Amino acid sequence: MLIEQNFTKKINIKAFQHDLITWFKREQRNLPWRKDKDPYKVWVSEIMLQQTRVDTVIPYFNRFIDWFPTIEDLAEADEDKVLKAWEGLGYYSRVRNLQSAVREVKERYNGEVPDSPKKISELKGVGPYTAGAILSIAYGLPEPAVDGNVMRVLSRILIIEEDIARPASRKVFEKAVRELISHQDPSSFNQALMELGALVCTPTSPACLLCPVRDHCQAFEEGIQDELPVKTKKTKTRHVQLASVILMDETGKFLIHRRPDQGLLANLWEFPNVEMLSSFQHEREAVRQQLKDTLSLDVQLEKIIGQIEHVFSHLVWNIEVYIGKLNSSVEENQEWKLVTEDQLQDYAFPVPHQKMFKLFQEYE
Ligand code: SF4
Repeated sequence: MLIEQNFTKKINIKAFQHDLITWFKREQRNLPWRKDKDPYKVWVSEIMLQQTRVDTVIPYFNRFIDWFPTIEDLAEADEDKVLKAWEGLGYYSRVRNLQSAVREVKERYNGEVPDSPKKISELKGVGPYTAGAILSIAYGLPEPAVDGNVMRVLSRILIIEEDIARPASRKVFEKAVRELISHQDPSSFNQALMELGALVCTPTSPACLLCPVRDHCQAFEEGIQDELPVKTKKTKTRHVQLASVILMDETGKFLIHRRPDQGLLANLWEFPNVEMLSSFQHEREAVRQQLKDTLSLDVQLEKIIGQIEHVFSHLVWNIEVYIGKLNSSVEENQEWKLVTEDQLQDYAFPVPHQKMFKLFQEYE
C-alpha cells in the first residue's frame, strides 16, 4: 500500500516553476510538433515518442503529417498505408489504436479532439500520460503527464522512493505534479519536465552541474541522485528460434505473407518463417519439412545467407535466413502475395524482415 506523503512540502513551488520554465523557453529543442499546438499533432507525436527516441521520431512524424495532415485524412486512410508510414517504428498496435481513436473523434466529436479528461481518456490507446500531454500542451489545462522520464526526474527532485516499475506508483507522481504544475503555463511546465529528463536529468549520470533546478533538488542536496529512481528489474526475456526464407517462384517474384490481425506485429507483411525448437544450425530438411507442415509450402532451400537477432521488450527473435525456390504454385489471397522487388515497397514489413531483404540484396 502506498503511504500518503507530502513530497512537495520542502520545495518553493513558485521559484521551482520559474526556474524550470525559464530554462525550457531558452533551451528547448526545435521539434516539429512544437511548431503549433494542434492537438492532433501533439497526439501523433506523443504516440510515436512512446518507446522511441526523439531523433528517430522526427522524420517519421514529418512524413506521417505529410501523408495524413488532419484527423479526417488519418480516419479515412487505408490501413496498409498507415502501417507503411509506421514501418520500422515498432509497437504497431500504437498506430492501429491511433487510427481507431481518430475515427471515433471524427464520428463522435466532429473531428475535434475532446478537451475533457474523461472523454479523451476513453479513446483507444490514450492512456493517462497521453491524455495529460494533449490536455496540457494543446489545451493549456493543468493536468499531469507522467511517464518514466518524468518519474525519474521527480523521484530525484523530491526524493520519491516508490518503485517506478509498479503501475500503482504513477499516482504518487501525478499527485506531486498536480501540486507543482504552473496554472499560468501548464504546457511549458509539462514539456519542461520532459525536456529536463531528456537533456539533463538523464537515466545514468545526470548533469547536475548544468541543471536549472539544482537548487530545488533534494537528491542532489543529499548526494543520492545516482540511487534514484527505484526501479525493479524487468521480467525474463523469452528467446524464439525462427527459420525464415526469401522464396521466389519461377518468374522471380517473392512470396510474402500477411501476419494475423491480432498479436505481435499484427497485419504487417513478412517473409515465410517457422518456429524451430532448437537453436541455430537446423538441419535444412527439418526446416523444409516445417515449412510444409505449418505453412503448406513445398520449397527447395538453397543457402543460409545470414542470421538476425531482433529484440522486442520481452522477446528476442533469433532468425536463420535462407533463400529458396517454390516447387509448386501458391494461390494468392489476402494472406499470401507474389510480388516483384519494386512492389515490395508498397507493403509494410517489420524491421527484422527488412533486414532479411537487405541480406538478400547484399548476397545477390
Ligand atoms: Fe536531476 Fe541533478 Fe537536476 Fe537533480 S540536480 S534534477 S538529479 S540533474
